[in-house]
Amino acid sequence: MRLILLGPPGAGKGTQAVRMAYRFGVPHVATGDLLRFATAWQTDIGMRAKTYMDAGELVPDEFVLELLCTRLSEDDAAVGFVLDGYPRNPAQADALDAILAEIDAPLEAAVNLWVPDENIIARLSARMSCPTCGRTFNSTAEAPLAVCDIDGMALFQRADDSAEVIAKRLQVFRDRTAPLIEYYGARDILVTVDGIGELGDVEDRIAKALEER
Ligand code: AMP
Repeated sequence: MRLILLGPPGAGKGTQAVRMAYRFGVPHVATGDLLRFATAWQTDIGMRAKTYMDAGELVPDEFVLELLCTRLSEDDAAVGFVLDGYPRNPAQADALDAILAEIDAPLEAAVNLWVPDENIIARLSARMSCPTCGRTFNSTAEAPLAVCDIDGMALFQRADDSAEVIAKRLQVFRDRTAPLIEYYGARDILVTVDGIGELGDVEDRIAKALEER
């Protein structure tokens, strides 16, 4: 399966991408994670990307493409992938098409996870991330969370999950990424799924929409 997930920040792409990757037996590839690892390792790309990420701006296409190509050339991605956070603008969509055309393996489906803005702001403000496995958790005043369920690491709030940067990321999504919904819709590989509700229910909706497509 070669699948991409589209949707605003906080729509649940990461969580659902992990679940879809497991279902289809393919790796979950998140460009945000690749960039955060590059930043943590202080690689050349990581250091240059950081300013953009902290401001909620898109990192220049060539940096992201380099990380993506390296990741997709690893053996486990030969069977397919679930891409999360890429493409984020039409030029990136073209670059992805070009990479896939070279290996004669076109994209099979694009899932558009739909969630209204007010839910997104609430979700991102409550989001806590695991520094090692990248999973995210919802931490509220009623049910605060400090450690990752999976590996016991102390959770942290991403710097770009602050109110000001969230607003910027939403605007970037609307201006740059949302046009891709039409782009993939015109190619007949798009399914739109309601991203509100229990994680398992959203997962089932996505799986059903993919089966019925
Ligand atoms: P995410 O984890 O997908 O929300 O991404 C976090 C940040 O990483 C974004 O706000 C961007 O600064 C950067 N980023 C992730 N993926 C891309 C991409 N495909 N193109 C440009 N910037 C990206």
